[in-house]
Amino acid sequence: MCGILGLISPAPVAERLVYGLTGLQHRGQDAAGVVTFDGRFHVRKGRGLVAEVFREDADRADLLGRVGLGHTRYATQGSTTLLDAQPLTMNYPFGLSMIHNGNVTNFEALRSELQNRQHRVIETSNDLELILYTLAEEIEAEAAATPGGFRALRPEALFAAVRRLRQKVDGAYAVLVVIADKGLLAFRDAFGIRPLMMASGQAEGGPEHAFASETSVFDMLGLGPARALAAEEIVLVDMDGVVHTDGGSETPARAQAFCSFEHIYFAREDASFGGWRVAAARARMGHLLADAVRARGLRPDVVIDVPSSAYFAASGLAEGLGVPYRRGLAKNNHVGRSFIVPSAIDRARVVRQKLNPIPEVIAGRKVAVVDDSIVRGTTSRHIIRILREAGAEAVYMVSAAPPLKHPCPYGIDIARRAELVAAEHSVEEVEAQLGADALIYPDLAAFKALFGGEGHCFACFDGHYPTAVTEEVRRSIEREQVASGRVG
Ligand code: 5GP
Ligand code: SF4
Ligand code: MG
Repeated sequence: MCGILGLISPAPVAERLVYGLTGLQHRGQDAAGVVTFDGRFHVRKGRGLVAEVFREDADRADLLGRVGLGHTRYATQGSTTLLDAQPLTMNYPFGLSMIHNGNVTNFEALRSELQNRQHRVIETSNDLELILYTLAEEIEAEAAATPGGFRALRPEALFAAVRRLRQKVDGAYAVLVVIADKGLLAFRDAFGIRPLMMASGQAEGGPEHAFASETSVFDMLGLGPARALAAEEIVLVDMDGVVHTDGGSETPARAQAFCSFEHIYFAREDASFGGWRVAAARARMGHLLADAVRARGLRPDVVIDVPSSAYFAASGLAEGLGVPYRRGLAKNNHVGRSFIVPSAIDRARVVRQKLNPIPEVIAGRKVAVVDDSIVRGTTSRHIIRILREAGAEAVYMVSAAPPLKHPCPYGIDIARRAELVAAEHSVEEVEAQLGADALIYPDLAAFKALFGGEGHCFACFDGHYPTAVTEEVRRSIEREQVASGRVG
């Protein structure tokens, strides 16, 4: 999972790109990069947070141009090399600079095809490179068939290139591309699995257009209203700021498979995806959890959250039960995430460093503690222990997400089935393993019904992958993800 942002304006974009990119920091903290174009590409990328890569004004002084892209990268363990950082740029036979969020599932097949037929040497283990070269190949084919070549290519030719790319590249991807002298191109995979939003506004000198993973960026930049790109849709904003679109209205909602985990965990609570405010979706998940808690015959004295992604689910649960919500765990926001720390022992230490109970909220009470999801169970196990140490009379562990039973091949770090505690064990067994007095999940059918049952991906819960994912592909993805962390 990564954050992507594109901006095209009558005014220079570097400062606003870097500023806007900080609003996507929660989607990736391993590397950040920006590219701008003013007749040639200017790139700056590095490891770490946006504020670390762009410490001073001087760090973006060379980023000239009125069109550009910004990326925040989330990498799995051991893969944070600079070579893999985005954007990726090519200058010959024409200029392309690209960023993406997602994961290509036919990585091996595409790589050998590009190497054998196109003699492309794939340098990085990043699947963005495959998308870049595939698009280049398709644009070259259009240029070869057009009198006047690349310079004469119209938006329709670029759309045709993307449509053919979609037939070749399987998986989930939201892609932004600056095409030299043509403009800013945006598209998603055919099922719209990863998010891609668009908004416009007025800058000095004319209209300004932006694309981003989440709408919060548009709020920061004063752009709006925002809308989601339809799965089949392709948008090109040309260098004069004219918007050309292809295919949008043809997509029936049921053909889409938008990642439901965006609502649960990835997106910030103030983000909105085509009518779905994340905060509201999470609060409704909380009400479902109230049904599940009641069905177990339980009545906690207090509801707390694992800060901060579970806050709205916890407050919805408290409201649904008529029980007070309190913050029962203090969070240190200045330490790294616990999720990808290598060993279980290290993870335990990081959880303790990150979360500390507030005894007065916990002691002598039956505590329902809500987290957004339980992946390996490491976080929950430690939280339950520290709540008991703080004097809880009972601990009910509540997950806003249904049991995670299947690996995600689409760029989420839920990679290995063996690591998913709910994949191999029943709810009762997980409850015992975690040491909880009760373990509560929402009912899967009710959870799906929250989103109208259609238009979303629930594959990590029910195993119904929207794209073709063979067992072999799944195994190769697991190996690849673990080895290279080419997740975007
Ligand atoms: P566990 O400790 O069970 O392996 O992971 C659960 C915790 O990781 C939850 O607190 C949840 O917020 C977080 N989490 C779930 N999915 C992801 C992910 O893909 N990346 C990161 N960084 N954290 C995740
Ligand atoms: Fe999202 Fe799960 Fe589908 Fe992956 S499998 S795209 S995490 S809903
Ligand atoms: Mg968490």
